[in-house]
Amino acid sequence: MASAECVFTNTWGKILGKEGEGFKIMAEMINLSRVYNSVAAIAAARRALAEAYHYLQFRTTFGTNALNHALVRRRLSDLCATYTADFYLTFHAIRTLDAAEQGNIKAKQLLRLLTPMLKRQTAQNAVYLVRESMELMGGMGYIEDGILPKLMRDVMVLPIWEGTSNIMVLDMLRASLKSDGLQIMGEYISDTLARNGLQYLNDEHLQPLVRLWRQLSSGTYSSDITENTAQDLFEQLTALYQIAVVCHYTDEQSRPHLQPVLQHLLQRLSNKRDIALQKAPDRNTVEAMMGWS
Ligand SMILES: Cc1cc2nc3c(=O)[nH]c(=O)nc-3n(C[C@H](O)[C@H](O)[C@H](O)COP(=O)(O)OP(=O)(O)OC[C@H]3O[C@@H](n4cnc5c(N)ncnc54)[C@H](O)[C@@H]3O)c2cc1C
Repeated sequence: MASAECVFTNTWGKILGKEGEGFKIMAEMINLSRVYNSVAAIAAARRALAEAYHYLQFRTTFGTNALNHALVRRRLSDLCATYTADFYLTFHAIRTLDAAEQGNIKAKQLLRLLTPMLKRQTAQNAVYLVRESMELMGGMGYIEDGILPKLMRDVMVLPIWEGTSNIMVLDMLRASLKSDGLQIMGEYISDTLARNGLQYLNDEHLQPLVRLWRQLSSGTYSSDITENTAQDLFEQLTALYQIAVVCHYTDEQSRPHLQPVLQHLLQRLSNKRDIALQKAPDRNTVEAMMGWS
């Protein structure tokens, strides 16, 4: 993309807001544009998945429809779970942003941590989801006449601008030290999981993070150790928070397509992923996860 750096000479400036508050004012703008980045990310991911699914519905390989292959359905359901979790996180953040703009202090505090978390997660996943969708379409996914190459080019910038993924980790670290965001997020995870009684997830998943955060925030460790460890900590926290958010918004109507999403997220979270003999999700499950109809 062509871009430019402008140098203004012999010109005058007018101060916006109070002197010394420039960064704060800019941060408000950045937070909005980071949420926008996430909306663009999930939109591109959704389009790519829809293109791939549509194509596969009509593609015959090994003498049968491509969707009859276990590994095709398995890959689609993995991607759908990632996309759906990002979709819910994004609109949860938008709801939080609305509440913060209406003066909700708790929402404002939460947003300081949630915004960089959302930006990092959705931007990186958009690149992953578009690439995977491209591969699901085989060679046709790579051909310029289709939509996938354009989407691929467009999403590459999402993790870079509005602050790179590393900068998002540093922002999450700063937000956790300087706001109540982390505490609010922890309470939300505990409350949601307690209320919804998820079988596989409990305080055992949250407590190691709490213990690690106590160590990190004690100021005992070098910035090298702190920043490096923070990335792992926030990645785990993002996974837990996404599960809690999807769980929170699950109701009778959405349960059939959100239940398999939750199962995927929980399985991914587990370090000791048990390898069990099981069938790939069936076509109806994949179609429900796609929200195809
Ligand atoms: C197409 C395009 C349009 C843009 N439009 C605008 C715009 O309109 N307005 C605007 O203000 N900006 C704009 N940008 C700038 C964009 O926001 C920055 O390029 C981006 O945030 C990365 O900053 P940088 O280029 O200074 O990278 P650098 O800071 O040079 O980073 C280089 C690498 O080092 C890593 N890194 C840097 N510091 C640290 C650290 N402390 N810890 C760990 N890792 C670190 C980064 O993650 C990155 O991988 C645009 C960029 C692009 C590509």
